[in-house]
Amino acid sequence: MKLTQKHFEIFKNEMNYWADEFSLRSWSIRFFFKKSEKTFLAKTDVFHTARLAIIVLNNEWPSDDPTDLALCEVAFHEACEILLLPMCRFNHKSVDDRVTERRHAIIHRLENTVFYPNYMERRQT
Ligand SMILES: [Zn+2]
Repeated sequence: MKLTQKHFEIFKNEMNYWADEFSLRSWSIRFFFKKSEKTFLAKTDVFHTARLAIIVLNNEWPSDDPTDLALCEVAFHEACEILLLPMCRFNHKSVDDRVTERRHAIIHRLENTVFYPNYMERRQT
């Protein structure tokens, strides 16, 4: 499924929401929306000394119509990556797979305990 500009806006708004919640405003966050050869939904790269985060939203998803929830969950995931990746990567070397796996275990817990309750509450008000 090809994503639209509307999907990109939902994604960016949600990431900006979490950037505020997590006080990530000292980071310069740049968003890109493009087709990627790889199969990720979105991807984050951090350049710690420059306080620069590069976020790519893949404009082609395997799902049918991406829901708001799916887009927002991915945005939350990438905001968590800005929080945690600097601890995992030094000198821009690649990250050990075990570190990536454990980082994702933390992010999945945060998705369940922080993102979902928050998202549901915001949709109710
Ligand atoms: Zn991730």
